[in-house]
Amino acid sequence: DNPIQRKPKWIRVKAPVSSGYRETREIIRDNGLHTVCEEAACPNIGECWAKKHATMMIMGDTCTRACSFCNVATGRPDALDIFEPKRVADAVAKLGLEHVVVTSVDRDDLEDGGAAHFAQTIRAIRHASPGTTIEVLTPDFLRKDNALEVVVEARPDVFNHNLETVPRLYPSVRPGARYYASLRLLDRVKDMDPSMFTKSGMMAGLGEDRQEVLQVMDDLRSARVDFLTIGQYLQPTVKHHPIEKFVTPDEFQQYETRAYNKGFLMVSATPLTRSSYHAGEDFQRLRAA
Ligand code: SF4
Ligand code: SF4
Repeated sequence: DNPIQRKPKWIRVKAPVSSGYRETREIIRDNGLHTVCEEAACPNIGECWAKKHATMMIMGDTCTRACSFCNVATGRPDALDIFEPKRVADAVAKLGLEHVVVTSVDRDDLEDGGAAHFAQTIRAIRHASPGTTIEVLTPDFLRKDNALEVVVEARPDVFNHNLETVPRLYPSVRPGARYYASLRLLDRVKDMDPSMFTKSGMMAGLGEDRQEVLQVMDDLRSARVDFLTIGQYLQPTVKHHPIEKFVTPDEFQQYETRAYNKGFLMVSATPLTRSSYHAGEDFQRLRAA
């Protein structure tokens, strides 16, 4: 077991107590949905849900992978629920979201990795809420021919796929994934649709060094990735990967500056940054600029 370190003073999280939080929880429950906010025990849930910003996690709550940082259960998932895209769309409409992030567990058990289900969810949201911008945060679709094409053809506004960590740490952090396959996935999105925004993210504090993070930024820019998020890794339980370091707010600020200098259009690098943290506000601001 890996004992969990005490959080430093710059990681302080408010308790989820607002009426907005309760309303969000009710809409999610009523529609029978999972959120990554809850499954990942995200520290920002009080703040995000107060504003009704919930990140939908489709295709069940059981994943076929076992990343060492992730709180989602590993196992054999249930069959896909064909009514889920509609229920996600209903929830997005009820929450009144200007921007929604839809992510999923990995479904290596499905022939298309769940790509068609992603596409149906995008279309259902478009139909119910034509003004809402849609961001997908997808699995890597490793060994799933044409899966990426199916998702891109459904035309999400932002295509997000997280690299999560530096290549050296893949075997211990993201076994089952391949760094260069994930990078290539992002690059292929731009091949298919150069106008689609692409986004990626990683965690800090898993044992990476600064040079490696800067190299990942260069790799992402080579793959023409537009947006970048970097946040502190927090260890969900003693069974998960240990926290090697709490990266200071100053170091995050330096990452953000370096990333902007490398040409990313939008960067969020703070201890509490998550892939979907402020995703809507940031994206709307960029579109308005
Ligand atoms: Fe949910 Fe993302 Fe906000 Fe966390 S940062 S609570 S995952 S929307
Ligand atoms: Fe968690 Fe995603 Fe890894 Fe599955 S693939 S264990 S949901 S991070």
